[in-house]
Amino acid sequence: MTSKPSSQPSKPGQPCKHPRVQIVSRDEDAEFVECLECREIFESSELKDMSIEERVEKETQES
Ligand SMILES: [Zn+2]
Repeated sequence: MTSKPSSQPSKPGQPCKHPRVQIVSRDEDAEFVECLECREIFESSELKDMSIEERVEKETQES
């Protein structure tokens, strides 16, 4: 039998929700922030997406 190696590395503990971030770089239409907890750098818009994901399903947006 061939067992599939899971492509996702097992996360130790809880996933970081990046509760504390600081802006490290700023572009004209993008802002980059660094998480003070896990040191990850990402676009601030990504962070919004992440936090929205949890509570987005309540509202039905139809346009
Ligand atoms: Zn983090």
